[in-house]
Amino acid sequence: MKILTVDDSDVQLRIVKAVVKSAGHEAVGATDGQVAWDMLQKEHYRLIITDWMMPVLNGLELIQRIRAANWASYTYIILLTSQDTKSQVIAGLNAGADDYLTKPFDPAELVARLGIAQRILDLEARLADMARQDLLTGLANRRALYETLQAALSQATREQSPLSLVLVDLDHFKLVNDQYGHPVGDQVLQRVAETLSKNKRGYDTVGRWGGEEFLVILPNTDLDQAMIAAERLRATLAAAQLVVTDKISITLNASLGVTSTQHTPSPFTIETLLKQTDAALYQAKGNGRNCVRAFTA
Ligand SMILES: [Mg+2]
Repeated sequence: MKILTVDDSDVQLRIVKAVVKSAGHEAVGATDGQVAWDMLQKEHYRLIITDWMMPVLNGLELIQRIRAANWASYTYIILLTSQDTKSQVIAGLNAGADDYLTKPFDPAELVARLGIAQRILDLEARLADMARQDLLTGLANRRALYETLQAALSQATREQSPLSLVLVDLDHFKLVNDQYGHPVGDQVLQRVAETLSKNKRGYDTVGRWGGEEFLVILPNTDLDQAMIAAERLRATLAAAQLVVTDKISITLNASLGVTSTQHTPSPFTIETLLKQTDAALYQAKGNGRNCVRAFTA
């Protein structure tokens, strides 16, 4: 793990960095709270070890800023300071530190406390993964798709590159549930998810948008290329035998709606793009299903 260590004393900083490295981590140094804060604007550090008494921005102020920022990923903070009275320890923890260690410190104790931090951060990462995954199919869920879409849209705007979306909706899926029951319907959705995952392009993200709808995010892809990718997915799905049990094998078609930032007035929003994809899908359904349609204004 890459750990940010903050201390205004050169000697202290060097000692802490050496201990961090001895525990198998990478150590990056900052000489006061403000320097650390500026670094945090450019890169997220999951673990910070900070001194309290420092010029410009002290450790407590740094911690308070980090907690107020309320970033999506957790930042575990160890306060490492010579302020060692009971009331100071309480003030440090109340400011938002996760752990408190007084100087001079025992290197073995800091290493042990890094172990605690690692356990908590591993758990946090696991929970974050679970929160982004669709339980049934294992694909990205709607929350994860939103995040990916937001990042892809920022990148497209920054690099002035096209971004396309494909919304896949299974045709007459309700009949599967009605005829075979919901457990079989669930297995069909899992087979469809596998088929889409296997046949998407490397840089694309596929996720379950909801029900029998799947969303594919295609970065750096214009409308023509997206139509080709969508048509390939449609054909693959139509040709696939979705084997559910020894006796049941189902063939399902899908309708696909496609849109691209190319034909959307700038600045694009996620909502506009999704609305357009939905409109295109509606056209595909109206056109007899099992086909791909692009959004037209
Ligand atoms: Mg100091």
